[in-house]
Amino acid sequence: MRLSEALTLSFGPDLVYTLDLSGRPLGTFRRGRHLRWGLDGRVLARWRQGNGPRQRAWLAQDEIDRAIDALVGDLQRISDALLPRPIELIVRRALSFDRVADAEKFARIYRPVSILPPDQYQALVLQAAEGCSFNTCTFCALYRDRHFRIKPVSEFASHIEQVKDFFGEGLQLRRSVFLADANALVIPQERLLPLFDEIAKAFAIMPCELPANQQRPWLRSQADAISGVYAFVDGLSAERKRVEQFQDLRRRGLRRVYIGLESGHEDLLAWLQKPSTAAAMLDAVKRMKQAELQIGVIVLTGIGGERFHQAHCRDSAAVLNAMPLDSDDIIYFSPFQPDASAPYLAQAKAQGIQPPTQALIDRQLTAIKQALELPPPPLGPKRVPYNLHDFVY
Ligand code: SF4
Repeated sequence: MRLSEALTLSFGPDLVYTLDLSGRPLGTFRRGRHLRWGLDGRVLARWRQGNGPRQRAWLAQDEIDRAIDALVGDLQRISDALLPRPIELIVRRALSFDRVADAEKFARIYRPVSILPPDQYQALVLQAAEGCSFNTCTFCALYRDRHFRIKPVSEFASHIEQVKDFFGEGLQLRRSVFLADANALVIPQERLLPLFDEIAKAFAIMPCELPANQQRPWLRSQADAISGVYAFVDGLSAERKRVEQFQDLRRRGLRRVYIGLESGHEDLLAWLQKPSTAAAMLDAVKRMKQAELQIGVIVLTGIGGERFHQAHCRDSAAVLNAMPLDSDDIIYFSPFQPDASAPYLAQAKAQGIQPPTQALIDRQLTAIKQALELPPPPLGPKRVPYNLHDFVY
């Protein structure tokens, strides 16, 4: 990471801090444990014991307080040293940074940022809508805390201003815009285009024709530059948009669209109460590719238990193979980890379907990957793990 985006301070191999340019802590690595500092005030710890699986835990408030004391102590130790001027400035900002006030301000501007795709964890989230327009999927509890609503243009414009003010110098790290919440592209086109126009007024959007070797210099050449706009879409909303409408969105900055296929097996999707079919999602991906959009497809592993195992693996691989995915696209494999507040567990138990085991998740991942006929990178789509429990914004 460069100082033009964030500051990484290394106190040796066992102690590293990352701060954004406004002095806001982003990450700590201390003796084998990574802390990721959320804008909402929470802190996620991740570590591994030996060769064991990665462990995760949200810190309790007293642990957060100790982590802040340690950070302040370490920064004070170096603040007396002769530091280059830009570094000294960020260290001073970090020493006076009020994390509690920052989290309170974040909560006034944002509804909870429930999830992002892994390649968008550092995106600048703009909530054009709140919640999910369906909220029917039995496995998903991400947006059950809020009603779906679309922001009027004037409210969205003021949201953008508040977000820019909130991040301040920290915007330098946020080089893409993620249009939230769950399926912002469900917004009818005549209401969506003016929202995209507001983004274009507030940011310089990188032209999509720019050669790869010119992209980073272009982004660094202007303070408000972003690589583009990214968003989730659900199958039903994507079904309703024509190729020309996706092309209009691309001209206004949309770059990659993330679609939760979850499974290619129609019976499983129906049982999960997904608001779309695999056939419709395949068709939507074809139309979005025709509009030259990049695609992220999410497949759940372990969902539906042993009962759906074979059909889920077979049909998911078949649907992925039928998608015209290339090196611009990403297939995410997300291990299904049931949320107790969603209906899935009770429904599955009533029907004799066991919760997913790690062994089942691993078997499905292997089976689907082995059945993929799409070329591997660099010619074909990347295959990327997507663990929802790693997410912190
Ligand atoms: S999986 Fe997607 S469409 Fe289904 S309830 Fe969750 S956010 Fe909404």
